[in-house]
Amino acid sequence: MKWFDIGVNLTSSRFGKDLESVLERARASQVTQMLITGTSESQSLAAVTLAEQYQLYSTAGVHPHDASSVSEDYLHQLRDLASHPRVRAIGECGLDFNRNYSAKPDQLRVFEQQLELAADLELPVFLHERDAFEEQLSLLKKHRHKLVGGVAHCFTGDREQMEAYLQLDLYIGITGWLCDSKRGQALRDAVSVLPLERLLLETDAPFLTPKTLRPKASRNEPAFLPHIAEALSELIQVPVEHVAEAATDNARQLFNIDGDKDFGQS
Ligand SMILES: [Zn+2]
Repeated sequence: MKWFDIGVNLTSSRFGKDLESVLERARASQVTQMLITGTSESQSLAAVTLAEQYQLYSTAGVHPHDASSVSEDYLHQLRDLASHPRVRAIGECGLDFNRNYSAKPDQLRVFEQQLELAADLELPVFLHERDAFEEQLSLLKKHRHKLVGGVAHCFTGDREQMEAYLQLDLYIGITGWLCDSKRGQALRDAVSVLPLERLLLETDAPFLTPKTLRPKASRNEPAFLPHIAEALSELIQVPVEHVAEAATDNARQLFNIDGDKDFGQS
């Protein structure tokens, strides 16, 4: 089995000291490809740089938390970054009204501009949403016909929300949230309507360490991706090999990656 972790925040300072061993453990767990998440102009540049160094892939985009602090020419910067062959999606972008680190109007504007950029560049969108489902859905509906595709990254919603995204032909990113029997209950219920051909797997490392992981870990890392897949496999009663194959194929398809190239040494 080979695994593709479509959401890793490898530029996080929490990987600053031991990135090489984190990647080594990923390799040992057969997590052979990853998409590094970019969250701002500077973090996206850092993500692309890492992707180039290790033959990984990355996104380029601005997280809703950073929407109020974008530079005047941020779209130009994202466009430049996205011309790099290692960049395979625009994002993470979307709306987050949970803590409103950025003002709503800024979030709405910066999200819509990135949807337009993704359409223009014919790149998929890597979507983040929290406590903003209705607004997010309506912007996606407005732009969907122009977009080549996208993934609802770190989906934590319920069945109805999942169905709405599936109707837009989006992929669904499943994380270790699934392993949380309390907070993850709606998601555990929703995966029963998720077709394998729309499934993507991600750790969102260093965040969202699966609660059921033993021994426990204080920091999540890509090597734990198979643990999430096993939890999903049990829930939906599909052999883990099929889960792996579907999720990896889907990732290659959405991010337009051909062949079997594993990431490498720096
Ligand atoms: Zn996110």
